[in-house]
Amino acid sequence: MRYFLVANWKMNGSQSFARDWLKRLGRHSDDNRHIIVCPPATILGNPEIATLAEQQGIGLGGQDCHAASDGAFTGWVSAPMLAELGVSAVIVGHSERREFAQESDSDVAAKAAAAHQAGLLAIVCVGESLAQRQAGAAEATVEAQLRASLSTSSNTSNTLVAYEPIWAIGTGQVAQPADVAAMHAHLAQVCADMGLARMPLLYGGSVKPGNAGDLLALEHVSGALVGGAALQADSFAAIVDATPAGEG
Ligand code: PEP
Repeated sequence: MRYFLVANWKMNGSQSFARDWLKRLGRHSDDNRHIIVCPPATILGNPEIATLAEQQGIGLGGQDCHAASDGAFTGWVSAPMLAELGVSAVIVGHSERREFAQESDSDVAAKAAAAHQAGLLAIVCVGESLAQRQAGAAEATVEAQLRASLSTSSNTSNTLVAYEPIWAIGTGQVAQPADVAAMHAHLAQVCADMGLARMPLLYGGSVKPGNAGDLLALEHVSGALVGGAALQADSFAAIVDATPAGEG
C-alpha cells in the first residue's frame, strides 16, 4: 500500500521555516510514503520553495481553493492558480472551513470538481462533531457528508478522503484505534458502493509520533492528515517513520 502523509500548516510558517522543513523531511519520503505539505498560499507562491520541494520528493498542496477558475472573488485562490505554481494537491472541506467559512457539502464537492479539472489531487475532509458521536450518529453523519462532498469527477487516483473527527482536531484528544478502524471500514464500504473501491482513506485528529504507529497500522488507513505535529519537523518525520513499511 502507498501511504500519504499530509502536513496541514494552517495559517502558520514562513519562507525560512518552509526551507528548513523541506530539507529536514526530504529523506523521509519514498515510494511507499508520499509526503504532501500544505503551507499557506504565500509560501506556495515562492518558486524557490517549489523547486526545493521537488528536489526533496515532497508534494505541495493548497489548504483550500475556490470552485470557480477566476472571477470577482476577493481574497480567494483558484485551483488552476495553484496548479500553475506546481502544486499537486489541495485540501477541500476542512472542518475549519466548514465552520468558519460556512462551507456546505455541495460547496466542497464543487471545489473537489474544480481541483480535478485543474489536475490536482483533492483531499476531501469529513468528520463528525462530539455531539454527533455521543448521539451514536457518527457513521451516518460521516457517510452522508462523504456521499455529498465527493464530486462526480472523483476517482481513486484523483482523491484522498480524510476522516477527521472534529472533536479530535487540535485538541490532543485522539480517536481510539477501534473507533477509527470501525469508521474506516464503514467508509471503505461506502466508497465501494459508490464504485470507488480502494479509495485511500486518511485519518486526521491529534496524530502525534506516539500514536501514529497504531493508527497507521489499521486496516483501511492509508495515511494521516496532521496539523499541530506537522509544525515540528522532527515530530512529522517521526510520524512518517511510523508508517508501516513495504506492502503494509
Ligand atoms: C488538521 O488540522 O487537519 C488536524 C488534524 O490538526 P491536528 O493534527 O492538530 O489535530
